Amino acid sequence: MWVQAIPFIFVHAACLGVFLPQVEFTTTACILLVVNYAVRVWGLTAGYHRYFSHRAYKTSRTFQFILALLGCSALQKGPIWWAGHHRHHHLHSDTEEDIHSPIVDSFWHSHVGWIFTKTWEQTNWRNMHDFAKYPELRWLEKHHWWPGVGLAVLCYLVGGWSGLFWGFFVSTVAVYHVTFFINSLCHIWGRRRYQTTDLSRNNFFLALLTFGEGWHNNHHHYQSSANQGFFWWEVDISFYVLRVLSWFGIVWDLRLPPKNKQFPDQDQPQGDHFVEPAKPDKLASKADLLLPPISAQSVAAAAQAVVEPVMAVAQSARESVAAAAYIMGETVAAAAVSARESVAAAALVASESVVSAAHSAKESIVAAAQVASESVVAAAHSAVPTATVVALVAVPMVTFFQTVASQST
Ligand SMILES: [Zn+2]
Ligand SMILES: [Zn+2]
Repeated sequence: MWVQAIPFIFVHAACLGVFLPQVEFTTTACILLVVNYAVRVWGLTAGYHRYFSHRAYKTSRTFQFILALLGCSALQKGPIWWAGHHRHHHLHSDTEEDIHSPIVDSFWHSHVGWIFTKTWEQTNWRNMHDFAKYPELRWLEKHHWWPGVGLAVLCYLVGGWSGLFWGFFVSTVAVYHVTFFINSLCHIWGRRRYQTTDLSRNNFFLALLTFGEGWHNNHHHYQSSANQGFFWWEVDISFYVLRVLSWFGIVWDLRLPPKNKQFPDQDQPQGDHFVEPAKPDKLASKADLLLPPISAQSVAAAAQAVVEPVMAVAQSARESVAAAAYIMGETVAAAAVSARESVAAAALVASESVVSAAHSAKESIVAAAQVASESVVAAAHSAVPTATVVALVAVPMVTFFQTVASQST
């Protein structure tokens, strides 16, 4: 048993590395811690648990492999080992056969001890024939350490020693224990809405930490559902992410609890559809299903009373903002249109003035040139006869005077 536990103990001991002088809680280390926690918890809840163990939705072979990689990176062995033993838990919950019952065995055994016993060391291939047919999953099952080791190296490359110790080791230990709480605490701490054959319980605090797995009594009651929070106040982050992925066609056919499973006293099956969250008055009529009924009802009513005004304010604020944005947009558009039209009109007037000025200048020049040329022609025209007359008169006169002058001498 202890040989198998060595890597698990090593990961815990490595957390002490946060006290080394070269390790600080840097921003990068903090981001790695949160992201590695969130992504891997989701990989285990949505991947190992809801997909590989319960087939609560469908996806492509590629995304199936990505889910398996995410789960492996949490260092909780391969998907076939994990899901095979989990299916066994559902078959024999809280009986002598159960692999991790805190009722039949100790809390320690149900939390972590069972992982290192010889009995559960081997992969239960018989339980997992539906996924065992994929060679890539069988390969990953053999090499389940590598995604985790690769993530550790990546954390070191991104954030140095701080990234490795805070971002990988501390987050891995946190992911270990919140996952194990579902096997241990969720069978002893919380409320039981449904009378299942085990002692599974719903626990809001654990549901927050495990992204929805804390609604464990819901889950034991209707195991194949993609959501484990059956009502709107039962926070289920894993399901919210699955819902978003379904919008992009990455996953599909999310299975949801039929109405008669949510309210088991309604014996008419309503089909495999999700039922709108129940109103508090509706819950009151189902009070015998809620244990204890009064407090569950009052919690629902109180939550409803708080949420409804907030939603109303948010809705009216959103509508006001939208209306203001619409009015502003229209005003700006109208101003832009009128400004554009004014500029165009001014440009048109200016261009016409310039053209007409040029035109009239040209005409004036042409007219002046015409007048000048005509004057020159006229002058030339009148000069010719004058010169002729002058020449005709002057020449004989000059000749006459010369003759007179010569005779008088
Ligand atoms: Zn389960
Ligand atoms: Zn359980």
